[in-house]
Amino acid sequence: METIAERLKSVQTTIKQSTLEAHRAPNSVKLLAVSKTKPVSDIVQAYEVGQRLFGENYVQEGIEKIQELQKLDDIEWHFIGPLQSNKTRVVATHFDWVQSVDRLKIAQRLNDQCPADKELYICIQVNIDDDPNKAGIKSAELNDFVDAIAKMPNLLLRGLMTIPKGQQTPEQQQNSFRKMADLFNALKTTSPNIDTLSMGMSGDMEQAVNNDSTMIRVGTAIFGKRNQTKESNAT
Ligand SMILES: *Cc1c(COP(=O)(O)O)cnc(C)c1O
Repeated sequence: METIAERLKSVQTTIKQSTLEAHRAPNSVKLLAVSKTKPVSDIVQAYEVGQRLFGENYVQEGIEKIQELQKLDDIEWHFIGPLQSNKTRVVATHFDWVQSVDRLKIAQRLNDQCPADKELYICIQVNIDDDPNKAGIKSAELNDFVDAIAKMPNLLLRGLMTIPKGQQTPEQQQNSFRKMADLFNALKTTSPNIDTLSMGMSGDMEQAVNNDSTMIRVGTAIFGKRNQTKESNAT
């Protein structure tokens, strides 16, 4: 069995290799370690070898870990799961980023409940394949959504996040990634703060890097197969 440190290293190597092949700068892609369902001891193992960005999907579980690991205060916590309006306050309080924003009502609540002196970084989640089983706005809704968020002073829009449909052919997958890259590159021209295309997971890191992703979200390839979760909306 490989250790978390070894798996993390091999994921970093894959990402680095992919950036070289795509003729991109080696440090142009960040790695978000997705630690959902995994114990804090696993997060600490990754932290000890230099990992600083962690992603959580479930509010209760995520908050507990953040509180337990409060001393590791240079961890950047990203919320990447479905968010209900009764949980926006704790998320705005404890997380640094929310990548799964896809409703204006949720954005408004995050803005209103964000602690004073804090700026919450957000990504808009785009359902690039119009998959009925996936969250996210339609790409045609993006411009209006961006304009609305620009009026929320406590939120800083950093970019876009997507989870493409599973089980696609390589051509379909490439097509989805390309559409996201086009949306991201267009959005970047309108705002200097837009620097994040969160796209790619354990199974499609290379393709994502090849299509301008700036942040890969990796769970299984670092921490192994997921454990059961107590929270109901597990994926
Ligand atoms: C679970 C999850 C991941 C990580 O998926 P792996 O295939 O385990 O790497 C990435 N992004 C989101 C939004 C997730 O829910």
